[in-house]
Amino acid sequence: MDITSPDNSYEIVIVGGGMVGASFAYALSQSFGGTCPSILVVEASAPLSDKFLQPSFDARSTALSFGSRQIFEALNLWQILEPQVSAIHEIHVSDKGRFGSTQLTREELSVEALGYVVENADLGAVLNEKLKVSNHIDFLIPASIQQISPTPGGMDLSISTESKRFNVSANLVVLADGGRSPICKQLGIEQSKESYQQHAIITNITFEEPHNNIAFERFTENGPLAVLPLREFEGENRCSLVWTTAERESENLMGLSESGLISNLQASFGNRLGKLTSIGEKFCFPLSLSIAKEQIRPGLVLLGNVAHTLHPVAGQGLNLALRDIDALVTILKTASENQQSFGSMQTLQTYVNSQKFDQQKVISFTDVLTKLFSSKKLARIATRKFGLLSLELIPAVRKRFAEQAMGLSRKF
Ligand SMILES: Cc1cc2nc3c(=O)[nH]c(=O)nc-3n(C[C@H](O)[C@H](O)[C@H](O)COP(=O)(O)OP(=O)(O)OC[C@H]3O[C@@H](n4cnc5c(N)ncnc54)[C@H](O)[C@@H]3O)c2cc1C
Repeated sequence: MDITSPDNSYEIVIVGGGMVGASFAYALSQSFGGTCPSILVVEASAPLSDKFLQPSFDARSTALSFGSRQIFEALNLWQILEPQVSAIHEIHVSDKGRFGSTQLTREELSVEALGYVVENADLGAVLNEKLKVSNHIDFLIPASIQQISPTPGGMDLSISTESKRFNVSANLVVLADGGRSPICKQLGIEQSKESYQQHAIITNITFEEPHNNIAFERFTENGPLAVLPLREFEGENRCSLVWTTAERESENLMGLSESGLISNLQASFGNRLGKLTSIGEKFCFPLSLSIAKEQIRPGLVLLGNVAHTLHPVAGQGLNLALRDIDALVTILKTASENQQSFGSMQTLQTYVNSQKFDQQKVISFTDVLTKLFSSKKLARIATRKFGLLSLELIPAVRKRFAEQAMGLSRKF
């Protein structure tokens, strides 16, 4: 529930009420039910309106894997989200100007959908509402964590709101404050960081023709371009665009007029969905691979972008974080049943061990895909052509690729 001043101590304090922090808090409350530990969520940015929430829930859209749907289903969230998502029935992957394209369909994989696209603002509205009404969660917004320091029993936090400062202690602090975490720096937790020297331009676009629930991933000389199906709204055939380009190219594209950008995009994307009729407000995100060198300390665990920020090319960041959340909640539940402390290294190490393989696989899958499909080098173009051909021709490769993209590979 919304609060204006926190208690002096909580079992779990979550720093950041973005997509990951809010999902984790809600997952905890659902999983523990009546035995839920005391939880405080602290979020720095005040919602601007019902639709425009904190930065995590901005104008972007997120492709959720089938595996993420299963996680939301188990939390009874999917039923609320479903009317707002657009299912992906087919993925069309192509390389502009070169031979090589492939389609993956839900029929081939015998699933209801290959994934789902949800607008971040819609997901945010659902999660925020859940935090506001939960009896198990204290939700302090806007408020910011200024400092965290270790204690023998966990962590002490200093929290500031517009007018007040509070000191709170916790057995476990869950850091979900995003990729630029000053708290991490303050604690001396290093990040290994590699800039891709690319930016992602994101916006919503409309086409003459309906998308028919097809997601397009097109590799152009300027970088990968993803067009994801969105729910129809007021008769408009809407899609979400994520266009990754070299830094300088993105500056040029961001500076174009609407008609200039439309003709540039149409030339890159082609006429698959007929004429591009409009482009919404555009935003630009710098892209890097950033991995925290430590994910746990006594009384501390990192979740989401602060633990691993990935390139959006394969749409894996939130999907991976949701699997991390799922694993951590299960391990905390077992710890509670065994009367172990939430913040003990034994508990937290079990979590890290359980997710290490999944994290490494997704990080390298995304990194390889980014480098392969953004390159203009002939050797990489040849590998990419071979990769697309293998996807087209070798059923086992198609199946593995699809399972990875659907977030199911770990379970099969
Ligand atoms: C262009 C783009 C497209 C993407 N598409 C996909 C996709 O299709 N599928 C997918 O799975 N992933 C996708 N991702 C990745 C996904 O967006 C991230 O995984 C996700 O946003 C991570 O959420 P987070 O909560 O960890 O961090 P954030 O979204 O950065 O949220 C952090 C929150 O913490 C708050 N905060 C920060 N500091 C403090 C403090 N000191 N005190 C209190 N609060 C604080 C912030 O206000 C913010 O609300 C995409 C990313 C980008 C850039």
